[in-house]
Amino acid sequence: TSLLEGKTAVVTGAASGIGFATVKLFLQSGVRGIVLVDLTISGLEKAVSVLSPDERGRCELLAANVTSEDTAKLYAEKAFERWGRLDISVQNAGIASERVGILDTEVHLWEKTMSVNALGVFLGIKHSGKAMLKNPGGASGSIVVVSSQLGLEGAPGLSAYSASKWAVRGLTLTAAEELTPMGLRVNSVCPGPIVTPLLDVFDKSTWPKMAGQTLMNRLGRPEEIANAILFLASDNSSYCSGTTLKVDGGYAKF
Ligand code: NAD
Repeated sequence: TSLLEGKTAVVTGAASGIGFATVKLFLQSGVRGIVLVDLTISGLEKAVSVLSPDERGRCELLAANVTSEDTAKLYAEKAFERWGRLDISVQNAGIASERVGILDTEVHLWEKTMSVNALGVFLGIKHSGKAMLKNPGGASGSIVVVSSQLGLEGAPGLSAYSASKWAVRGLTLTAAEELTPMGLRVNSVCPGPIVTPLLDVFDKSTWPKMAGQTLMNRLGRPEEIANAILFLASDNSSYCSGTTLKVDGGYAKF
């Protein structure tokens, strides 16, 4: 299909899980080009090795840390250098850690988690937004933030993670209020438990419990989140801004 024909995108955390599933779906949906951002070039190269030559040719790889402001400037610039515009920015890079109670949570864990999951997204919105305002033909663009079910409720043992996901969901609302009148759209997706390497930080013995707390009694697949991201990224969601889209199997509580 050609839902994204002519459009260009950036996806952070693009080498794995939800990010790479999104890259694949965007390519299948006819995207003109994507900047894939992740920590290492080896991780990115390995991910894109499964793509066809045509798909690979539409990818620009950028090994960089989203916690640096230069990274956010650079990926927006790369899209402009190569394709002359930036239409879609998927703010997906994120980390989780083993469960630890709030009373035992170290400042280091708090800062690391907030740095990747919240600062990284703030910088991404800031510089993707600035770039999208300069698109030829007038300001336009869609920013999609990957929050979490844990950005909608408390999460025992995951205080820093949950706070970071509430932070970016709130940021999405503020960005939508500021940027929608300028011609951009900003929305968030809240995934439930999805089988990706991120879930490996939780003991496998706890996975059935997570699955059992969804109405479907199963964990989700990265492709099921990518479909929601595609909706919010594309013109199919042309009347959505500030929307929080839960994609969680009808989840109750972890
Ligand atoms: P994942 O670990 O498979 O992928 C995350 C990617 O982000 C990795 O490739 C990693 O290298 C990259 N990354 C991490 N820190 C980075 C940094 N500082 N700079 C650049 N890249 C960085 O995990 P995933 O499950 O696909 O997670 C994607 C997003 O979805 C995250 O924001 C996560 O919090 C969110 N999420 C995941 C789940 C789940 O159950 N898997 C549920 C809700 C939300």
